Amino acid sequence: MSTARRKKIYEGKAKILYEGPEPGTLIQYFKDDATAFNAQKKAVLEGKGVINNRISEHIMTRLNAIGVQNHFIKRLNLREQLIKEVEIIPLEVVCRNVAAGSLSTRFGLPEGQALPRSIIEFYYKDDKLGDPLVTEEHVTAFNWATTQEIDDILATTLRVNDFLSGMFGAVGITLVDFKIEFGRVWEGDFSRVILADEISPDSCRLWDTISSEKLDKDRFRRDLGNVIESYTEVARRLGVMKDMPTVIQGGLH
Ligand code: UDP
Repeated sequence: MSTARRKKIYEGKAKILYEGPEPGTLIQYFKDDATAFNAQKKAVLEGKGVINNRISEHIMTRLNAIGVQNHFIKRLNLREQLIKEVEIIPLEVVCRNVAAGSLSTRFGLPEGQALPRSIIEFYYKDDKLGDPLVTEEHVTAFNWATTQEIDDILATTLRVNDFLSGMFGAVGITLVDFKIEFGRVWEGDFSRVILADEISPDSCRLWDTISSEKLDKDRFRRDLGNVIESYTEVARRLGVMKDMPTVIQGGLH
């Protein structure tokens, strides 16, 4: 079925969700749109959706192989993947290994300073409020997630961090921080929490381990240029460039 005829379920800043081919499934479409600072800064980065679709597929597949359950089922084409429908938990779960971004600003830490241990933070997903930082008290009091779900989210986030740090470390990339999201899947009266959304250079800080060059969305946020080239470099190092269309393999200039 063509994209045009499919029922749109939700449109976000970088992705669109369409009705899936069977109940309990959705199609996740990766756009080329880039936004930052709560959508005050906008651009179209040609090819970004294709690269993020492929990188996220690679990461979700590998996480699934080590037992980190997630919503990814299969990639359908250059921009779309079939996913499990979940009830999104309205939290952005950020895990940090090195000080950067809002953590550096909040605590006056120089960007690049290693943290004493990995730090996990919760932000409440609400664009109108600018995604405020919240504590577990807010999460349970406002029923965004239960105590048990928070425990599962924390344990899974640490596993994702360990796995991704190793995966990127092996190809000369330091995983500075990343953001992930979770959703509930229901089985009768019981629900479990699985990883959802995407994992890509849009949602991670990735620095070249030797040069400290940024290979992620900060290139867009901070007007550093070469955004697509950097995302392409991440894909190349992960070994997923061979599946890319030649227009992207050969550069998008
Ligand atoms: N992040 C994200 N979406 C958001 C906010 C943050 O994917 O809406 C990611 C961001 O790319 C970085 C990490 O979460 O890898 C931590 O971001 P931070 O809190 O430092 O916010 P920022 O400096 O991006 O405002």
